[in-house]
Amino acid sequence: MSTDLQISSLTSWFPSAKSPLIISGPCGAETEKQVIETAVAIAELNKVNVLRAGIWKPRTRPDSFEGAGENGLKWLEKAKKETGLKTTVEVANAEHVKLALKYNVDILWIGARTTVNPFYVQEIADALEGIDVPVMIKNPLSPDLQLWIGALERINRAGITKLIAVHRGFYSYSNSTYRNSPQWQIPIELMQTIPSLPVICDPSHIAGKRDLILQLAQQALDLKMCGLMIESHIHPDQALSDAAQQLTPVALSELLNSLVLRVEKSDNIEFQNTLELLRRKIDKIDHHLIETIAFRMQIVNKIGEYKSDHNVTILQLERWAQIINDRIPFGNNLALNPEFVKLLFQLIHDESIRIQTEIMNSSVEIKT
Ligand code: PEP
Ligand code: MN
Repeated sequence: MSTDLQISSLTSWFPSAKSPLIISGPCGAETEKQVIETAVAIAELNKVNVLRAGIWKPRTRPDSFEGAGENGLKWLEKAKKETGLKTTVEVANAEHVKLALKYNVDILWIGARTTVNPFYVQEIADALEGIDVPVMIKNPLSPDLQLWIGALERINRAGITKLIAVHRGFYSYSNSTYRNSPQWQIPIELMQTIPSLPVICDPSHIAGKRDLILQLAQQALDLKMCGLMIESHIHPDQALSDAAQQLTPVALSELLNSLVLRVEKSDNIEFQNTLELLRRKIDKIDHHLIETIAFRMQIVNKIGEYKSDHNVTILQLERWAQIINDRIPFGNNLALNPEFVKLLFQLIHDESIRIQTEIMNSSVEIKT
């Protein structure tokens, strides 16, 4: 589905932002001391552009820390005066928008639990009508690109063109390494659908644990995301929310210093030629791969006809088990990731079943 979003480029409204845009600060504003000390320490790194802090915390269970409310906005305004950092807070309704603007918050953000619901997003859009403030929109909890784009469109139609999308991962039933599964293909598709939209990554909420943040942050930059939102806290272990994923300002500094900023293209002719040669090899291999798969499918066709003539079911579980038990170790011996080989053969097997079903159905049609 196409979209007609009107987006202002990040550099046009935030020229002082360094590349990549770095947003950091605590999950939640807890006390004046915590906000100011964190802000001062991260401002000293000279790499952070924006101070973040949750003022109203949407929590899964009711007895958790639910944020400092209006007091937190006062601390944030003070931190901004002391450090010169811009500020950003999460807003989940019209009242939050009004209060955040009253305390001169520079950028608003809509959280994952709000983006899921078009009623909430529309309420915020209505409250923003006629106001010129940048808005960041986190992906919805569920891996639904259209819902994310819908939220961007609602805010855009209220007249907000200073928009940023924030990738923070998606809720997943299956137990995985991450708190929220990254599903990189979704932000990639967003970037392809709306090329003018700046997309940044929040590796803290994807990771859920500090030691996974660097690798995710690097991956986001390698995928051409233009910024990072990383939670930091002067004493992370004492944090009232998301303690396991917040970094000390020192750890944040180490992380930012170890990120590698890769250039899009090198001007070096030798590099270009080598890359071109390797790409030509890949093109050839891909053609061979497709020819081999087509040849495999011709045999699948034959088997389908044979099974149909002998009235045998399409799916024979022991054969599928045999394929998997053979292909995974075979691939493993050639240094291929077992999970990758399994997914690849699931895909090939699905297509084989589709082809054989077609053959069976056409033979039924002929008989009737
Ligand atoms: C947050 O940034 O602290 C937060 C609540 O994030 P999300 O909406 O991504 O869960
Ligand atoms: Mn958080």
